Amino acid sequence: MLTKTNVQFDARLAAVCGLFCPACSVFIASHDDPARRQQLAARLNVPVEAVYCDGCRAEKRYLFCQTCKMSACATEKGLAFCGACADYPCEGLQAFQAECPHRIELWQDQERIQALGATAWFEEKLAHYACPTCETLNSAYDLSKLCLCGITRAGNPAISHPQILIPRDRK
Ligand SMILES: [Zn+2]
Repeated sequence: MLTKTNVQFDARLAAVCGLFCPACSVFIASHDDPARRQQLAARLNVPVEAVYCDGCRAEKRYLFCQTCKMSACATEKGLAFCGACADYPCEGLQAFQAECPHRIELWQDQERIQALGATAWFEEKLAHYACPTCETLNSAYDLSKLCLCGITRAGNPAISHPQILIPRDRK
């Protein structure tokens, strides 16, 4: 189980765009939730093996992240995060942010990364996505009451977009 205790700061899990990899459905499915991996594969119409990711800066990345423009752009410019760029927030990042509800926090994340540094920001995100009762890391798309311990999660930006939520199977 991925929890705020056993997941520690790792630069590979801090995405260039400001996303927090341990709260990504694909990351959780890859490391913590085989049933979700099957569900995602069916929904995305890709083989189960393709639903795998070790994080934005890791060797093995999800298909979508392998072709990420922000990642390529930041590497080319020698920047760790988009927030440090003279062009921030560029049109590409703005379009990306507007695509999905869980990206609503990206601007705030970039600000926190620039203000506190990636390590302290990472700690904040761990606390944000960890269940207050069992410490399991849930994704932004986990419905309330779907943490394994059954607790209702509050303050989840995805709750108002139930059509895109992927339920987490109980074990
Ligand atoms: Zn819990």
